[in-house]
Parts: sequence; C-alpha cells; structure tokens
Amino acid sequence: MNTVAVYYDNPYLKELDSTVIEVLDNALVLDRTIFYPEGGGQRGDCGFISTSRVTSTVHDSDGRILHLVDNPHAFSKGQKVHISVDWAQRYRLMKAHTAQHMISGILYHQERTGTVAIHLGDDFLTVETDSPSLSRDLLYRVEDSVNAAIASSRSVSSRILSHEDAERLNLRRPIKVSSDVRIVTIDGVDEIACGGLHVASTSEIGCVQYDCQEVLRGHVRTVWRYAEGAQSQRRMEHEALREAGALLSCPAEDIVRSVSSLIERENSLKSALREKDAMIASLMLAGGKKVFASPVEISSYQKLCSEDRTFFAAYEGPKGLSWLMSADEDTFKAFRIRFPQLGAKGGGRAFCWQGSAGCDMKTLLETAEEILA
Ligand SMILES: [Zn+2]
Repeated sequence: MNTVAVYYDNPYLKELDSTVIEVLDNALVLDRTIFYPEGGGQRGDCGFISTSRVTSTVHDSDGRILHLVDNPHAFSKGQKVHISVDWAQRYRLMKAHTAQHMISGILYHQERTGTVAIHLGDDFLTVETDSPSLSRDLLYRVEDSVNAAIASSRSVSSRILSHEDAERLNLRRPIKVSSDVRIVTIDGVDEIACGGLHVASTSEIGCVQYDCQEVLRGHVRTVWRYAEGAQSQRRMEHEALREAGALLSCPAEDIVRSVSSLIERENSLKSALREKDAMIASLMLAGGKKVFASPVEISSYQKLCSEDRTFFAAYEGPKGLSWLMSADEDTFKAFRIRFPQLGAKGGGRAFCWQGSAGCDMKTLLETAEEILA
C-alpha cells in the first residue's frame, strides 16, 4: 500500500490524522501524509508524529515515503496518529521554490539563459546558470521582472499530463521522468515539470533580491534573497550603511570614496612609520651595542643584516618576545641549541635569523650575550 501524498492535494495543510502502516528501524510509513519527502532541490519536511519529532522525510529505493524518527518502535502498525508539519520551514521552502521558478523562467524567456542547478536554503536560494558571465544590469533587470510578477499576484497551478503531451509543451528544461508528468505553471511567467511544492499566488513571496554571483565550473551561479529574508537583509545593510555614514560623517553614496581615502592615508602613515623605525634601527646599531632590547619591531633590522655586522635585537610586543640576529650559520647553530631553555623557535639564513621566544627579555639577552661573546 502506497502512502497518499496529501501535500499535493493541499500544500497548505499543517496537521492531519493518519495511520501507521509500517514500523522500520529508523522510520515510520503512514497511510497518508502532509510531509514532503526530499527531492528536486527541496529538502524533506520536519515536524511531529504525535509527540515524536520527525527529523526529515525521504523516499526509499522502493518509493516508500519514510518519516525519520528516533523512536519508531514506540509505535505499532495500525496505530492512529496525529501529524503536524514544521510549517515555518515548509512555507519558507514553498516561497523559495516558487521564487526559483520565476527567476529561472524569466532568465530563460527574457534573457535566453538556462538553469543547470538550484539550491533552496533558509536565507537564500541559488540558481546556477548555463552562462559563463552575466552582467549585474541583466540580473537587476531579472530582479525587477520577478518583483513585478510577484506584485501582480500571478496564480501558480499544477496539472498531470501524459509524457507525450508534456513533451509537446516544449518546456525550458528536458523532462526527467518517463511516466506521467506534473506540470507547474506560474501564469504568464513560467511552465516547468516539477514535483515540488509551491505557493498558490506569487504575491505570497513578497519580494526577491539579487545578492551576488560566483563562477562555478565555468557557469555563473547567482545568489538571491527572498521573502522575509530579503527584507531583513535589506534592513541589516541599511543599518550598516547608516552607521558607517555616521562614523565617517558622510552620506551613503560617499562611503566608498571616504573609506578609500582612509585606506590610502593609513597606507602612507604605515610607510612613514616603517621609515622612522628603520632610522631608529640604524641608530641602535650606530650606538655600537651588539645585544640590545629594541624599541622598534625586529623587521626594521632585516635590511641591516650583513656579513660585516654581528648583532642581536629583541623586541617585546603585544604578541610576546621576538628576536633577530645578524650572524653566520655557526653562531646561529650555537644559539639554536639553547632554544628549549628559552621556549624559542625560528630560522632563516646567514646572515639574518629571526624568531620568537617564550622566556623573559633578561634571560633572552643574557643568552645572546653568551653566544655572541
Ligand atoms: Zn518546483
């Protein structure tokens, strides 16, 4: 006996009375269900069978609809149960699925771009196209067309056709099943063979928003926000822009220019600081001390290392002690033997060695004095 797929007759039904017809090791099979099994890019429904949580719903290889539960043996064959679907998740997926048909349909009919793969997530959906590149303008055009169709409350309907009749419709995507075909029509927007669940009217979606794109396997994959997810994303971005504008004391349209000039200024300050540190490093060496605690980062000494100079500089920064030594290989080897005592590590090549140390500054400098003596 097959499970009656009540979700096709009424995708809006949230609860139903049903009967257990099979008890498996990890799942229950029911005589009728409102739980949609995973397939066609739409994940399986969650919810409850009586008080037991259904973690997902899948088809098995025999075509049975399995409701995955932790404790199937708490049930018995023939037992009457009350089932309820996780409606928030299901309704979100119905909106996502319908939005995806609209995006793919408009991409195809308006922009001659096919769809090769889709993914429906909670916060966004993706449409992988057959195109190697798509302009932002084209995708904004698609966004506008989809939103205009959403606002005009197009009806979404389905019907079953014979395979032969379905082939005659010349759909944008080849039909995958060999038997009768379920055709889903969004009035004036798209028609496609699909076994998924959709909303009854496009107005239920609210809106879609093009987010970004990436190139995968030579194809552009587009990312879209939809319904409440699009609205909350837009609000979050609006707040971020408003706060950034307040920090920078400029209107939103000037934020990029303002941040660019800040980055430029930061880079020139960093470069001036590096020059100043290099000057201090030269002065430290001019003082004639061979082993010393440096007031500037040890990277400032890299260019000063040479065969003619032997010195050891240590710097205590926020990340701990670091050191640099200008010396030949034998001197470094003698120093390296002391690494375990100093909690030190590092390397390099003659005449520039550098690393870190876990001991205190005094111990490090005393050891270096011994080595360089
Ligand atoms: Zn669909």
